[in-house]
Amino acid sequence: MAMKSKVLIVGGSGYLGKRLVKASLAQGHETYVLYRKEIGVDIEKVQMLLSFKQQGAHLVAGSFNDHQSLVNAVKLVDVVVCAISGVHIRSHQILLQLKLVDAIKEAGNVKRFLPSEFGTDPARMGNAMEPGRVTFDDKMVVRRAIEEAGIPFTYVSANCFAGYFLGGLCQPGFILPSREHVCLHGDGNQKAIYVDEDDIATYSIKTIDDPRTLNKTVYIRPPKNILSQREVVEIWEKLIGKELPKSSISEQEFLAIMKEQDYAEQVGLTHYYHVCYEGCLANFEIGDGAEEASALYPEVHYTTVEDYMKRYL
Ligand code: NDP
Repeated sequence: MAMKSKVLIVGGSGYLGKRLVKASLAQGHETYVLYRKEIGVDIEKVQMLLSFKQQGAHLVAGSFNDHQSLVNAVKLVDVVVCAISGVHIRSHQILLQLKLVDAIKEAGNVKRFLPSEFGTDPARMGNAMEPGRVTFDDKMVVRRAIEEAGIPFTYVSANCFAGYFLGGLCQPGFILPSREHVCLHGDGNQKAIYVDEDDIATYSIKTIDDPRTLNKTVYIRPPKNILSQREVVEIWEKLIGKELPKSSISEQEFLAIMKEQDYAEQVGLTHYYHVCYEGCLANFEIGDGAEEASALYPEVHYTTVEDYMKRYL
């Protein structure tokens, strides 16, 4: 059997990144985790990194301000997976990856790079609204740099992180499901796709040594998790044994409210708009030159929406 690639996780201390570290170790890859020299006295982060080490990962110091440190880190491995931040209400550092692309190019040994994507496919969002399109535009800038440098890649389009979308019954600003009331986007019938973050990490790591995913986009579309907001709410109602009173917010009202928010909030709301009113995640067929993760890896028992939501009971 072919040797498993050695993997460097960049952004391994993040919300998705820590799951990528776990998945990489679980799938038997020698796993390196880049940590920032600028970590200071963030005790929680240091403890998390030490726990990775206890689980068998190697910690590598590096900095985006120190090109050589990135080159040295990249030279240790075959595959680089980056999960640097890209959510404005937390932190948005997608373009920093251009420095990582430079380092990968110089190192010259990397067989696969997965940049920090893990959401809506930015290649499909050329007509996205301001200001949220910045996320897609920046991710496309990184894609172009990767492709111009001739770096082998896989782009993972992970659709909705379950924690954000299911946690809030698809309502922006909420990450715990209400037992009192829910507000639907329009009629609540646009389909979206929800994926447990641990499953996103599992599928992503599965792609790295797979020739079928080389230089392709991999969409994660677990068939049972392609649901409308109304269907998500019905699942929750069944779990709590109660029907929730419902209101609805029209597209025009949603956009008007959005314009009153600060920049970071507006970016997030733009994304909700495209997902919940336009159905941008599920309104297309996966064409040639792309793959679907649950079809490629049927051995992964993904978490269904119902199972995911049981944690909130
Ligand atoms: P986080 O906000 O949790 O941050 C991830 C990492 O970014 C951390 O490890 C952090 O390192 C690192 N980082 C931040 N700033 C810097 C910097 N200046 N230099 C070096 N490292 C830095 O990221 P998420 O897990 O929320 O996001 C990861 C990806 O997932 C993004 O592409 C995002 O767009 C996508 N996403 C998709 C969602 C969806 O629903 N589809 C939802 C959320 C995210 P440190 O700990 O050292 O600060």
